[in-house]
This record gives sequence, structure tokens and C-alpha cells, in this order.
Amino acid sequence: MILTEQKPIEEIIENFGKEKKIFIVGCGGCPEGAETGGIKEINKIKEGLEKAGKKITGTMSIDFLCQKALIRSRVRPRMETIEKSDAVLVLSCGLGVQASTEVLNKICYPALNTKTFGGRITGMWHGSERCDTCGDCLLEYTGGICPYTACPKQLLNGACAGQSNGKCETDPDRDCGWELIYKRLKKLGRLENLYRFIEPRNYSKMLPKEEDRKSKHWALDEEVI
Ligand code: SF4
Ligand code: SF4
Repeated sequence: MILTEQKPIEEIIENFGKEKKIFIVGCGGCPEGAETGGIKEINKIKEGLEKAGKKITGTMSIDFLCQKALIRSRVRPRMETIEKSDAVLVLSCGLGVQASTEVLNKICYPALNTKTFGGRITGMWHGSERCDTCGDCLLEYTGGICPYTACPKQLLNGACAGQSNGKCETDPDRDCGWELIYKRLKKLGRLENLYRFIEPRNYSKMLPKEEDRKSKHWALDEEVI
């Protein structure tokens, strides 16, 4: 199971900036188990956003947001509403936010931070998305492409000088992660995101909260592996 923690509601509201109409999608897989992304949490966030003046255009929960085919089939009846929304808030790990952005073709904001869990990280579905469990998900800036896993140098503010014809200097068969981010932001009409400065990674954010590290679940997990 992937361990996630909810971002503070104040941070979620601030991240939205001038986005007004928000559609909320939760994940019924790991976040439901971790009590960070189930129906109860969706409703709580909805209430907080409405108090802050946002219009919630709809909410839904999908069993596993790390499974793109499942997202595609489940959102079909809601696509018109999603298209008319300014943005989507996703209550899932980084894999789910990446998969949702690709399928919905809409800017997706992460409501959760994905944390390490003893290094035994895996999505419920083994798709092509990768998350480095940085503990401070920033996928709304990069159009749902993770700079920590798409770029071997983990650059956070644009491509290095080694990029050539859209390929990474470390491997000519590999697409440059920042070229992919540029193309995705262009497609989403969000190229202005490239002007934001992303702060250097704070590795201490990878650690789960102290209370979680003292929980019986944590102790049991440590014992059986
Ligand atoms: S920014 Fe990347 S590494 Fe960090 S939580 Fe999001 S997907 Fe994972
Ligand atoms: S070429 Fe692109 S993906 Fe490769 S290291 Fe430079 S910025 Fe990162």
C-alpha cells in the first residue's frame, strides 16, 4: 500500500489561486485504506473549498486511480462536466494524479502528498507512471508529469543544456522529461506554469508523520517483512 497524507486545506485553497470551478476525484484504493481519499475525505474537502468560495461541479470516487483504462471507463458519463470545470482535485498518490491528468486532459491538482513507506512502494496497478514519494506533490505545476521520475537529474525548473531534439542527454532513446512537461503544459494551455520557481526538494518531507510511524500498522509491517 502507498502511504499518503492530505495537504492542509489552506494549502489546497492557495494552490488553486483563481481556479473557480473544481471537480473532485478520489481514489478508492490505497487512499481509502489510509483514510486520506475516501468518500468522507472527499466530502470534507468539498465543504472546505465551498467555504472558500469555490464551486464544486461534481465529485466521484474511482476504485484505483493508478489504472488508466478504469478511469477512462468510469469518467465517460461525467466528461462534459469535467470539461466545463477549471480544474480537477485528485485525492490519490502521485501515480493517480499522473494517470488522471493524462486521461482527463485537464489540469489536476494533488490533494495528497505521497510518502515513503519503508521503501516498499507499489501502485495497485503496475502502469507506466512513476512516483519518487517526495512527500510534497507538485504535479499541478508540471501538468501531471513528475520531474523527479521523468528527468534522471531530477531537475525542477526546466531542462538542462544537454537536451537534444527532445531526447535526454543520458540516453538518446529516452524522451527529455522537461520536453514532455513543456508539451503537456502547452496542450493544457498552462505554459505560464513554467515561470514558477519550484523550491529545492526537502527530503525530510518523505517521512510519514511521527504518529503514523508509531502506529500498530507500521509495527506489524516492519515485523512481517
Ligand atoms: S511530485 Fe512526483 S515524486 Fe512527488 S509525490 Fe508527486 S508524483 Fe510523487
Ligand atoms: S536532457 Fe532533459 S531529462 Fe535529460 S537530464 Fe536534461 S533535463 Fe533531464
